[in-house]
Amino acid sequence: MNSGKDLAARSRAAVWHPCTQMARLDAVPPLPIARGEGPWLIDTEGRRYFDANSSWWVNLFGHADAGLAEAIAHQARTLPHVMLAGCTHAPAVELAERLSARTGGALGHAFFGSDGASATEIALKMSAHYWRNLGQPQKCEFIALAGGYHGETLGALSVTDVAIFRDAYAPLLRATHLAPALHEAGALAAIEAKLLELKGRCAAVIVEPLIQGASGMRMHGPEALRELRALCTRYGAHLIADEIAVGCGRTGTFFAWEQVSTASWPDFVLLSKGITGGTLPLSLVLTTDTVFEAFLSPEVARGFLHSHSYTGNAIACAAANEVLRRMEAVLPTLPAQAKHLREAFAPLLADPRVEAGRQTGMVLAFDVRAEVAGERFAETFHLVARAHELLIRPIGRSVYLMPPYVIDAPTAQWLAQQVRATLDEVCPR
Ligand SMILES: *Cc1c(COP(=O)(O)O)cnc(C)c1O
Repeated sequence: MNSGKDLAARSRAAVWHPCTQMARLDAVPPLPIARGEGPWLIDTEGRRYFDANSSWWVNLFGHADAGLAEAIAHQARTLPHVMLAGCTHAPAVELAERLSARTGGALGHAFFGSDGASATEIALKMSAHYWRNLGQPQKCEFIALAGGYHGETLGALSVTDVAIFRDAYAPLLRATHLAPALHEAGALAAIEAKLLELKGRCAAVIVEPLIQGASGMRMHGPEALRELRALCTRYGAHLIADEIAVGCGRTGTFFAWEQVSTASWPDFVLLSKGITGGTLPLSLVLTTDTVFEAFLSPEVARGFLHSHSYTGNAIACAAANEVLRRMEAVLPTLPAQAKHLREAFAPLLADPRVEAGRQTGMVLAFDVRAEVAGERFAETFHLVARAHELLIRPIGRSVYLMPPYVIDAPTAQWLAQQVRATLDEVCPR
């Protein structure tokens, strides 16, 4: 039996869902999704839901995309996977070359990981190992920003500052130096003070450019990042730009960093999530000639030491290459798509129940005021939204839309109308 009820019950028994209090699964049963079609997810009973959060920010062109399916099928029939040590293959080479070209060659070396958290791990290790190779092993501390999110494996969690993900595991984590987030006043002075205090022991500063995602879509402008780049250079620390969520067009440009500078890049840029358009797990750590060359040596131990079985998986790389091909046509349409969202949501952002309306490219967010949100706001909003054909999961009181790049004016209007209807039901005026 594969009826929806049956699937949800079997899921509760056998599948341990992520980011979920399993004791609440009866109150919030998982949607039994049978298939996807464009931005729509269709459940086993034939009901549809607009995937307003792009399935945790990974989807770009809609679900079950024919071009991506074809690229994946073709690669699966040709060469699904081969180890990337001792062998290489065209999909990996092409992907690395394409991404290098997008940075004008500034980040010409790509290391492959399996998911976002592993990209963070790789960048932290690579940064510290770089300094060690330069005879500065004391440079192995990291500065992370308040509210930053970089994944949940132990190393990545060490530089993540989201209490709900971190508190239970705090005893397992390496100490990290926390500075204020870039949208906070005085952040840059505080980061500089930390760099001074660390007296040359800071290997790298890690940041989510333009939008801090997991802590509730907190946004800052490119100017702060320009200054942060200069600070890192001045104090001899690497800058790691975690574009796992904001890369692949999410902010309106392929890399969020393009809005900061196309001349002065971070030392590391991390990509994952959208890079395969929501089809397969893959991540990349892009870095510079300077970093790359510090690892060249006759000694194996001076080389970068990080291996995982599926590194550079050919099917995932083929999907990513298809995403990059498609982005050529999609990128120019993003400003208009973002404008449709802005116009459709303008009345809602002016609603007295709502505050801190904000938008960067294809991410639009607002907070529901504390006094109207009520208990279990995020869960209630998510449940009520289902009845309005929306799949949406607020973060605390922050409601956000991060849809696939398929937004025209009527779709944006429809989304705004459904979000308002949900809000009216959850927080009646
Ligand atoms: C999602 C995310 C990660 C972690 O990626 P996973 O694939 O979930 O491990 C890291 N950094 C940012 C900014 C993210 O949004």
